[in-house]
Parts: sequence; C-alpha cells; structure tokens
Amino acid sequence: MESSIHQLVPSAARLQASIEQLSSYRDITKPGWTRRPFTSHYDDGRRWLSELMLEAGLAVSIDAASNLIGTLPGSDLTLPPIMIGSHTDTVTGGGRFDGTIGVLAGIEIARLLQESGRRLRHTLQIVDFTAEEPSEFGISTVGSRGMVGNLPEAMLELQDDSGLKLGDAINRQGGDVDQLALLARKPGDVALYLELHIEQGPFLEQSGHRLGAVLGIAGIQRYRVTIIGAPNHAGTTPMTLRSDALAGFCEIGLAFERHCLSNAKEAVGTIGKVTNEPNASNVVPGLVRFDLEIRSLDRSISDALYAAFAAEASEIAYRRGLRLTLEPLSKSDSVIVKEQVLKLMLQACASAAPAITLASGAGHDANQLAAIAPIGMIFVPSKGGRSHCPEEWTDYKDVAAGTQALAAALLLADPADLSGWQYG
Ligand SMILES: [Zn+2]
Repeated sequence: MESSIHQLVPSAARLQASIEQLSSYRDITKPGWTRRPFTSHYDDGRRWLSELMLEAGLAVSIDAASNLIGTLPGSDLTLPPIMIGSHTDTVTGGGRFDGTIGVLAGIEIARLLQESGRRLRHTLQIVDFTAEEPSEFGISTVGSRGMVGNLPEAMLELQDDSGLKLGDAINRQGGDVDQLALLARKPGDVALYLELHIEQGPFLEQSGHRLGAVLGIAGIQRYRVTIIGAPNHAGTTPMTLRSDALAGFCEIGLAFERHCLSNAKEAVGTIGKVTNEPNASNVVPGLVRFDLEIRSLDRSISDALYAAFAAEASEIAYRRGLRLTLEPLSKSDSVIVKEQVLKLMLQACASAAPAITLASGAGHDANQLAAIAPIGMIFVPSKGGRSHCPEEWTDYKDVAAGTQALAAALLLADPADLSGWQYG
C-alpha cells in the first residue's frame, strides 16, 4: 500500500491552540487545571467543543448518557461507524492533556478530512465521553458505561454530597437516562474504537520513543486485609508477650512488596489505604486494616501473586499470634488489544514516529467500549511520567505525532472489512 495515501498531517500549532483554549475553561477556585464533570466549567468547555466540531464539518449531538458526539457520515451508510473518543473532564488539581488530547485529536482529524476533501466509507464519530475520571458519585467512565449499556439503575441512583442523583446529573448535562437501555450500543454497532491518550507513565520518555501502541489495559484486583492483635498498655506489656497488629502489618506489607517486585515485569501492586486502631501513642496496636490492589494484563499472574502473598501473610500472622482475614473487594478483567488491531496500530504509529508497544496501567473509556467493539489505543509521552497534577505535560509535537498516527490508523482501517474483527 502507498504510505502517502494513509497520511493526514495535523497542525501542531492548531492542536496547541485548541488545548490552550480548552484548558481556559477551568475552576479557578481549585488547584491546577480543574474541570469537573457536571459543572459550569465543563458546560463552557463543551459549548466551545461543539463549535469546534461544527467548524470541522461534524454534526453535533448528545446521546442518552450525555456524551457529546460529532458525526461525519461515510459513503456507505450500511456500515457501523468508526469511533474516536476520550474525555474532557479532569481530576481536581489535574492537568491539560489527560483525555483532552484524545478528543481534540479526533476533531483535528475531521478538519483534515474536510480540508483534503477525502470521504471515508465508514461514518466517523468523535466522542467526548462524560465523566471518565472518578466522579463525585463514586464511579468512573460514566459516559462510556452508559453508551454500552453498563450503567444500571443502581448506579444512576448514586448520590453526590449534595444529594444529587447521578441519573439527574446526566439528564441536566443533556442526556436522557430513560432511553439508556433502548439506545445502548451493542456488539457490532461500532466497527472500531480508537483512542489517543497520554501515557501517564515513564516508559516512552525513558526509551526515547514518541509513540506507544497499547497492548492492553491492566485488570485490577482489590482486597481488604484485616490484622487483629491484642491492644494493651505500651508501657507495661513486655515485648515478648505482645500481639502487635501494626508490627505485623509492617512485615506483611514488606512481604507484599517483595512478591510484587518478583513479578515487576508483569504486575504492579500497591497498599494505598491503611487504618490503625486505636492509633494512640501509648497503646500497642490492636487492629490494622488495609486495602491492596494488584494490576496486570495477565489475570493468572495477579492470581498467583495474590495466592503467594496470602500464604506468606498467614504464616507471618500465625508466628506473631495475630488473626488475619482477607476479603476480595473487586476484580476487573484486563482488556487485551486483539492481534489485528495491534498490527494496524503499529503500522499506523510507524508511519508517524518511532514507536514501542506497552501496557496501560490506568483504565480508560476504551475499557467500556471493548465490550462492543475492537479497540486500539496510542500513547504519547508524559514528561517525567507525571499525570493527574498541574505539571502534567506532553510536547505539542508529540500530540501532533500521536494525532497523525491516529489518523493513519483510521485511514488504514476504513477500506478494510472490519465486520469479522474480534473484540472483548
Ligand atoms: Zn484520561
């Protein structure tokens, strides 16, 4: 295939101007570049995004889950659309690139198609998914869940601190939750889902590559561990007669770290939340409860890591005269990018800049879309591996390279028969 026919060359300056404009819609009472979903700042950003979509020749609509969608009809309306999406909400104190570059890259590609006069076979949809980051309602990827029918009634009933229900918030944002089930997209309703995102990790920068074709998105297992000892007087209880829950936690926590380190190529594990009771300086700790999580592309590795850790933790507890309980909190499966799509993404990346393959440790809207469509993702470097902070940074030339690769993936996929491509 001629490589030139698969190239649309984006404007780094235009992408920079769009990123800067969108980041101006922020909550100045909060740190960083905060734009929380369901706020006036979010509305302002979306109003501007709608204008940008219209200028790029896209028809603008809002679906039942309140996702903002720009549509460019293809020449064959019997084909399901190819979708490019991401999100424009941020965490509190977040940055300017996470999510936003994926939406703005999609709109830039629509503009390039418009300028080149090229017509795709597939309809193209550019989606700004509502509330991808953890929301005030306790869940994340709200809009992409809603699009694929994974926003059940119980989630719509979740309330924020003001007592507002998620369902009502979605309706205020332009959605219609009564229509969610009816309008949910089903397997086959989207021919291919593509997303450009910042890496949020150090691998691209450290290896000197500008693009990453994503192998998959890690699954997450979370467990709650409780260590029960015997609270007692810190001055009168001899060292040899203690059942100190916190001392036991220290040994068990380090054992967990050791098990994770011995699987460091394939998994990461974190103890991020700990409570100690009674948490008083003159009392031998009687109870420690902590949550641990393990992330990996390969569930069998997470399962084996956890099993080995649990066995050692039980031994440590027994030796120290402590009682130990372990309970599973949640398990989400990893998403593996299917071979055909990965090949396509590598070819698309290679046409734009030097690329490697890598895994995503963070979740994305693509996790939800994977239930109904083949998904492909491209990462661009995060300076210092940092994200979800005001310092989050990706060079504009890298955003442009990622956009070019995304466009190349679209142009490579459009002539193909995508109907038999695997997903899920
Ligand atoms: Zn994101």
